[in-house]
Amino acid sequence: MRAAARTVLVLGGTAEARELAGELHAAGIAVTSSLAGRVARPRLPAGEVRIGGFGGPEGLAAWLAEHGVDAVVDATHPFAQRISASAVAACEAAGVALLRLERPGWTQRAGDRWLWADDLDEAARAIPADRRVLLTTGRQGLAAFAHRDDAWFLVRCVDEPQPPLPAKHELLLDRGPYTLAGELALVDEHRIDLVVTKNSGGIHTQAKLDAARERGLPVIVVRRPPRPAVETVTTVDGALRWARRHG
Ligand code: NAP
Repeated sequence: MRAAARTVLVLGGTAEARELAGELHAAGIAVTSSLAGRVARPRLPAGEVRIGGFGGPEGLAAWLAEHGVDAVVDATHPFAQRISASAVAACEAAGVALLRLERPGWTQRAGDRWLWADDLDEAARAIPADRRVLLTTGRQGLAAFAHRDDAWFLVRCVDEPQPPLPAKHELLLDRGPYTLAGELALVDEHRIDLVVTKNSGGIHTQAKLDAARERGLPVIVVRRPPRPAVETVTTVDGALRWARRHG
């Protein structure tokens, strides 16, 4: 059996990344978590934390060499494409093992009324006229919905978004985990008749889908973007086992 990794770099920004850092730290494996720095008050994981971009694949490759990293776990959000591409190129250049930790997407259940969209632009076009929309696709990319001045949007995100935003909207700054009771109350209070979401997956934000099913509301679900071919696990345990093997 090979020695444990000297240092594992976890590319984070997700609940799973935070959990993995905690497990690695508890197992005595040196871990540094990297956050993009988008969230004003991030929930910090155990172990070392660094914040901010690396400066593309070259910057990341240099960082890996400089900090004696032998294994990288890309546990970023399923819709964070650039950092994942950067990780592939940097790990290849630096000769460092790379694992992708990605939670499974949500799957439709009996009673769900889902409509799939390939991206945010398609989701925006798919909204029928004059709807009251719960928009939960996050702070980035809201410009795709800005031209829909017929519809009203309850825009929920963690931090204040930048304009442009749709003309008729209310901003709700909040972050999960969310409960079914809370989501039902929100939907009822704002007379929501459509939900728009990315297929982020996971348990922390799925209550909106349960609420939509209970109220018979349609949901526009944005498909995950294509990803580079990388060894992938779907659980924190799987990533932990991999990290123990690589060094
Ligand atoms: P992105 O488009 O893939 O990344 C843009 C740039 O931000 C990257 O090129 C990189 O800069 C920097 N970056 C991203 N993640 C980083 C990380 N973990 N550590 C250091 N630098 C990072 O990603 P994004 O969609 O803006 O997402 C940014 C972060 O928010 C990610 O950590 C992701 O897990 C989290 N997040 C994203 C979403 C979403 O829907 N996209 C939702 C929830 C959380 P350099 O090229 O300079 O290295």
